[in-house]
Amino acid sequence: MKAVVYKGPYEVAVEEVDDPKIQDPTDVIVRITSTAICGSDLHMYEGRTDAEPGITFGHENMGIVEEVGSGVTTVKKGDRVVMPFNVACGFCDNCRAGKTGFCLTVNEPGTAGGAYGYVGMGPYPGGQAEMLRVPFADYNCVQLPKGEEHEQDFAMLADIFPTGYHATELAGVQVGETVAVYGAGPVGLMAAYSAQLKGASRVFVVDNVEHRLDLVKDLGAEPINFDNGDAAQQIHDAVQAYGVDRGIDAVGYQATEPSGEEQPAVVLNQLVDTVRHTGGLGIVGLYVPSDP
Ligand SMILES: [Zn+2]
Ligand SMILES: [Zn+2]
Repeated sequence: MKAVVYKGPYEVAVEEVDDPKIQDPTDVIVRITSTAICGSDLHMYEGRTDAEPGITFGHENMGIVEEVGSGVTTVKKGDRVVMPFNVACGFCDNCRAGKTGFCLTVNEPGTAGGAYGYVGMGPYPGGQAEMLRVPFADYNCVQLPKGEEHEQDFAMLADIFPTGYHATELAGVQVGETVAVYGAGPVGLMAAYSAQLKGASRVFVVDNVEHRLDLVKDLGAEPINFDNGDAAQQIHDAVQAYGVDRGIDAVGYQATEPSGEEQPAVVLNQLVDTVRHTGGLGIVGLYVPSDP
């Protein structure tokens, strides 16, 4: 089959690779119909992780089940499914506690969590390919209505929407509260939308890219451009209080100062300034163990 293969910093190629095979009875093989490029793929693409050449990217995947292992009971050939980006077993202590991002059985002993096509997240090729092997398929396939409707919307269920929603869970957003989201990329916008769904009274989203800030306005949230002065101060002035109730990091370590200079901790420090004492933080931006 054809797949996107990482060759080195700023270089990927579509190449012929081996078709995935059923390796365990609990696997299925999915023929990919949609797969997305994530901001976290760009960390690898730009050579800002330990990813080795040869890896196939793609952790936001959906498609049609092509082949089913003998131990799979709820997924059938022909089912239309989307796969959450974390590969998880469903039976370890962390999975049973609902913390599937920290599955204890899908990666090297002593580590927690697996994902498709991601450095350090286990031996699972990504789905920027014609086909994908899905382990523990009964647990890792989310069933979708058959057909072709809402294809792009459903693809957002692999990572972008649940990750944004999860940020509001981590931050503890409650009805009536004020929320600041750093980063108006897809995850930040979904975090803002999730905060609105939870009944937040005011939602601020910080960025300096105008077309992203326009989307913030479209959502009915309040754009804050950090090129116009300290974002925390702008938000304090808007709420006329020392800080908002909840803060969310949807940026990660490739964050920039207003000067344009990269500073990996700038969003974390800004959140400390932005959120009131005893408020809550949701950090879903990516921080990697090594930045070559
Ligand atoms: Zn992603
Ligand atoms: Zn598990």
